[in-house]
Amino acid sequence: MHNWTTLSKNELEELREQLEKTYAGYISQNLKLDMSRGKPAGTQLDITNGILDALDNYITEDGTDARNYGVLDGLPEAKKLFSDLLGIPTSQIIIGGNSSLNLMYDSMMRLYVFGTQGHLPWCKQGPVKFLCPSPGYDRHFAICEDLGIEMLNVPMTEEGPDMDFVEELVKKDASIKGIWCVPLYSNPQGICYSEETVKRLANMEVAAPDFRIFWDNAYGVHPVYKEEKLADIFEAAEKAGNEDRIYYFFSTSKITFPGAGVSLMAASTKNIAEIKKHLTIQTIGHDKLNQLRTVRYFKDAAGIHHHMEKLAAELRPKFDIVLETLERELGDTGLATWTKPMGGYFVALDTLEGCAKETVELAKKAGVVLTGAGATYPYGKDPKDTNIRLAPTYPTVDELTLAMELFCVCVKLAGVNKLLK
Ligand code: PLP
Repeated sequence: MHNWTTLSKNELEELREQLEKTYAGYISQNLKLDMSRGKPAGTQLDITNGILDALDNYITEDGTDARNYGVLDGLPEAKKLFSDLLGIPTSQIIIGGNSSLNLMYDSMMRLYVFGTQGHLPWCKQGPVKFLCPSPGYDRHFAICEDLGIEMLNVPMTEEGPDMDFVEELVKKDASIKGIWCVPLYSNPQGICYSEETVKRLANMEVAAPDFRIFWDNAYGVHPVYKEEKLADIFEAAEKAGNEDRIYYFFSTSKITFPGAGVSLMAASTKNIAEIKKHLTIQTIGHDKLNQLRTVRYFKDAAGIHHHMEKLAAELRPKFDIVLETLERELGDTGLATWTKPMGGYFVALDTLEGCAKETVELAKKAGVVLTGAGATYPYGKDPKDTNIRLAPTYPTVDELTLAMELFCVCVKLAGVNKLLK
């Protein structure tokens, strides 16, 4: 296939005519397909249904009745399961409720309202800023926006955030209080942070003594094609004497059921003690029955890895469709580039500059809902209007095939429109 960016005006006009006909054909089919959010399909959820019957009794290993109040920071057996899975000591783990995003919001709120380790609360320090590697997860950015924390875009590289850029900013500006990180199979690009990136984040010189890395390892055990290794951020930070810098988050939302899984937060022992002081005011304890059900169902870390292989087998054909369709339809056109993730939940595509919004709009008019253009950037503003997040997990294989074919027509149409301007 020719590189379309080098075609003549006449050739492009001819292509546009053909594309418009093809597009009209999709419009007449009255499609209604949703590729907007990273939700598992019903068939994927069914794989985990056994967990609903995993509670044969409700007495925990130390004799606690899991039906009753108590145990603020989580059942010991739940901590042990996640400690083995993630390589974090149980003493550094707090088990939360059904959502890690909730833990992130609460953490940000505590820093904002109470401050940390004797430093002034962020709300009393004047305007504060946060680094946002972009494209990234829209709900992270929404938390900052909610609190009026100014967000600074950080470009992503294949190894994670551009660390030259990050280091330069944080060493000079004490109002920069932290950075969002999704270190494995990132949302939306599927990027895995290199060992070098992890080390640099743990070691970098920061002007703010209360700087925090929000380490959201949401896809930490979620390979689709290949298991990638992530360097141990706590180990690196401890070596550098910066262990208080790390707030680590994880959940089983994409292991069991989204919105009905178990979340956790991990941090240095000093941070954990501080967090618990507030947590004990906030709640008597989280849902221990769900924690127990999760432990009984998986038994150990190997049980979770084995389960994730089953989920990967379910997801692989869907990622195949996305990647094969993009290659076949857009391969050498020069109209788009995209990531080829080894795991996680998304593929990120970049159109020609100024074409993402139009592409998403064209797809919407033809009945295919995508994540809104711009959503992957702070304030919903993609400076170059190029990035589109593709979420292959929810539609069926047939729906996805159709949606991706239409999507590629939309990328081409928006691209040709731009080239003809
Ligand atoms: N973090 C990332 C990067 C996500 O992509 C998602 C969900 O899509 C979440 C967190 C939400 O996690 P939870 O369901 O544990 O709140």
